[in-house]
Amino acid sequence: MPTPLVTWLPIATRDEVAGRRHRQIEPLEAIVWHYTTGPGSPIPWLHQREDSVCWHFTITRDGKITQHIPLDARTWHAGGSVLDGRKNVNGRTIGVECANMGPVDLLKGDSLHPILAARSKRFTAAEIKAAGLRFGRIVSGNTWLMRGDLFIDADGSLWEGLSGPQIESIMLLGIDLAKWSIDYADAAFCYEKNHVGHGEIYPKKAPEPGPCFPWQALRDNLRHVRLTHVDKGSPNA
Ligand SMILES: [Zn+2]
Repeated sequence: MPTPLVTWLPIATRDEVAGRRHRQIEPLEAIVWHYTTGPGSPIPWLHQREDSVCWHFTITRDGKITQHIPLDARTWHAGGSVLDGRKNVNGRTIGVECANMGPVDLLKGDSLHPILAARSKRFTAAEIKAAGLRFGRIVSGNTWLMRGDLFIDADGSLWEGLSGPQIESIMLLGIDLAKWSIDYADAAFCYEKNHVGHGEIYPKKAPEPGPCFPWQALRDNLRHVRLTHVDKGSPNA
């Protein structure tokens, strides 16, 4: 697999704004995967923000990976999360945001294709298919709000799917950070336990990164990184 092309579009961290040296305050332990909950790219917002929320990487729907902050700097993406029984998750994690609506709540003013809008909030996969909406689009007024696939989970709730280029970039970034961590951070990111969803460590928030996140493929790729870079020749790798 090729190394991902990452665009560097830096912003100042809260530490820098306060005149402190930017840094992680503990060794890096995990990558926290998020979705943004918005219909567009979060990057313009991130660059104009007035609060201190920030993260290291954004993966937009076109698959572009943008890095905003160096890996040795603390970002503010994990809120009140608890990881391994301890708070201060921002000080020991890398934050990655995937541009994605997450759950599509029809009660919040967005409307669906009329065939689906006439039905209840919950749908079966057969209903989605029958409506010809594998590539369903959500509209707000007369404006196309997004063009992603809709995804239906086991409970019949609708989600915006992650795009194909986005999934590919999630994989490339995960692999690249795993290789980077072997050289610089004690191999943390080549183990699946060191990749967590924001929802796992902060259950009160949205269930990020959502049911479309390619966990199994990421696990398979991390195992490959371990086999080729860490556990060469070990039968138990
Ligand atoms: Zn989050």
